Amino acid sequence: MEQFISNEQFNVIKSQIIGMQKQAVVTSDEGVKTAVKEAAEAKVHDVFQDLTPDQETLISGIAELETEEERTKFLMNLTPYRKTFPEVSPADLRGLFPKVKKLFIPDLERFDFRALTYLGWKDISQSRQYFVYFKNGELKGIQGRYVISARKGICGVCNRYGDVALTSIQNKPRESEELKSYGQYICYDSKECNQAIQDSARLEAFLDQV
Ligand SMILES: [Zn+2]
Repeated sequence: MEQFISNEQFNVIKSQIIGMQKQAVVTSDEGVKTAVKEAAEAKVHDVFQDLTPDQETLISGIAELETEEERTKFLMNLTPYRKTFPEVSPADLRGLFPKVKKLFIPDLERFDFRALTYLGWKDISQSRQYFVYFKNGELKGIQGRYVISARKGICGVCNRYGDVALTSIQNKPRESEELKSYGQYICYDSKECNQAIQDSARLEAFLDQV
C-alpha cells in the first residue's frame, strides 16, 4: 500500500481520537458515547476520497478503540502510510531563498518530515521567519518577519490556541504596484503548528498573497 495519509489528514484522525477520549471521560451515557464515536468516524472519512478497500480498512475502526494503548497503537500503525515532506538539504533551502545572504539554515535532523505540512523556522538574530511549502507540485519559499505576541492567541494557520507571533510577509511589487504587507498571528513553534494543522488552505491563502 502506498503512502496516502497527509500530515493534515493524520492530524484529523488524531484529533478525533482525542475528542472521543475526552467525551468518554465526561459522560457515562452510552447513547452519547456512540454518537460521538460515529461522528468521529464520519469526520475522518470526510477528509479522504477514493480510498482503496485496504486503505479504507486501515482508517476504519476508530469507534472501537477503547483504551489509551489501543489508540496509541492505532496511530502508530498508520506511520508507514503517512506521506513525507521532501527531505530537503541545506543547498535546497539556499536555492529557495537565493536573495538572502547568509541564510540561517535550521538543524534539519530535528524535523520529523512525516509530521510536516510546511517547513518553518526562525532566524532569531534577525527576527525572520521562513516557510517552505508545496504549491502546484513545487516547493516554494517565503520569508517574513515576526514579532512575538505578549498574549497567547489563535493561530491563523492551524487554529490552535497558544503562543503566537505576528508574522508579516511582503509582496514584491512590479512597476506601478505598491509594496504591501500582510500579517497573520501564527504559532511561535512551527512543530506544534504542524502537529495541529488539519487543513492547508489557510496556510496557502496567507502565503499565496505574496
Ligand atoms: Zn499554528
